[in-house]
Amino acid sequence: MTLASNRTPSLIGHPVFAELPETVFESMSRLARQHGAINLGQGFPDGQGPDDLRAAAARALESVSNQYPPMLGLPSLRRAVAAHYRHHQGLDLDPEREVMVTSGATEALAGALMALVRPGDEVVLFEPMYDAYLPLVRRAGGVPRFVSLKPPRFRIEEGALAEVFSEHTRIVLLNNPLNPSATVFGQDDLALLAAFCRRFDAVAVCDEVWEHVIFDGRRHLPLMAQPGMRERTVKIGSAGKIFSLTGWKVGFVMAPEPLMRVLSRAHQFLTFTTPPNLQEAVAYGLSKDEGYFEGMRAELARSRDRLAAGLSRIGFSVLPSAGTYFLTVDIADLAADDVAFCERIVTEHGVAAIPVSAFYAQGEVKNLARFCFAKTDATLDAAVERLAGLFRPA
Ligand code: PMP
Ligand code: GLN
Repeated sequence: MTLASNRTPSLIGHPVFAELPETVFESMSRLARQHGAINLGQGFPDGQGPDDLRAAAARALESVSNQYPPMLGLPSLRRAVAAHYRHHQGLDLDPEREVMVTSGATEALAGALMALVRPGDEVVLFEPMYDAYLPLVRRAGGVPRFVSLKPPRFRIEEGALAEVFSEHTRIVLLNNPLNPSATVFGQDDLALLAAFCRRFDAVAVCDEVWEHVIFDGRRHLPLMAQPGMRERTVKIGSAGKIFSLTGWKVGFVMAPEPLMRVLSRAHQFLTFTTPPNLQEAVAYGLSKDEGYFEGMRAELARSRDRLAAGLSRIGFSVLPSAGTYFLTVDIADLAADDVAFCERIVTEHGVAAIPVSAFYAQGEVKNLARFCFAKTDATLDAAVERLAGLFRPA
């Protein structure tokens, strides 16, 4: 018997991951680097985030223990999370039993799906959907049921929910505000969805990482606050988005105790904890006064308007953006599809964007490209200048 084998295994790894391409954000950022392009693809701000938060993290690195913090998160951060959501969203959360700190919203999502989905359970997903959702649902053994939200309004319609909900529905995964379409779901959408969750006894996992990044006087409404949803909602937040520090990967999960019990069992074997100095700094940041949040929103809204105006001026048709770091443009007149369009603008015009079809499993929407506007004026202006070439006769 020989130990060495020159046979290639027919399949290395679980089919969900073995057959998965690299995430579009990573591929586009690499193409942007290769072509010296302005990267308006992957969503991250140009800046360094608030100085006082970085200083708090640096101080905490020296002053707090760098050994394992408690598995559910530092008590100071869990208390700060509960106080933050009481103040901003009127939620009543028990910091000891209903709040858990995770390594970013990504871990919270993966953990929630691993913990809650049983093989064969149906999971309702809304397209366009964040690219992590579907592989995680599939890996957890869930059966996806898609609701396709149609541009340009991307609203939740009763008829579409009625088609996918059934007694097999176990989980509904909603992203509000919605990346990439920059839609903010309001009272009507949420009340409708809550009614279906109650009727079919489904648990809602609500990815609310963009909750503070909403514009034009809108208020974020948590799905958890809808009637009958308190005991059936897992709410997910991320300090990365609240403080424009996307690399920090400090997330939080809020859920009623029976759900939190099982969520914490997944978390204890995924990451167990998150760096304590970052937790301490986020605890400090969450108590920032209204001025910080209003300032952050105002600045981003100004950048949104600047990019939207620039893109419209050169000839793009720009869709509305009610929140997130993103706006989308309709490219139907410029290219056969969004992937070809994004490849062309990064290689020939030096600007990276994200094809919105990457957020659709069923692929029928191929005419939208997403740009990130969380950048300096100079970066946005330079990108518009480069893209103007698309509309000049050759
Ligand atoms: N969900 C959505 C909708 C996102 O847009 C992102 C990142 N932009 C995440 C989750 C991941 O958040 P985190 O970086 O905290 O893991
Ligand atoms: N959420 C970010 C975006 O939508 C990307 C995060 C990532 O690259 N994984 O651009």
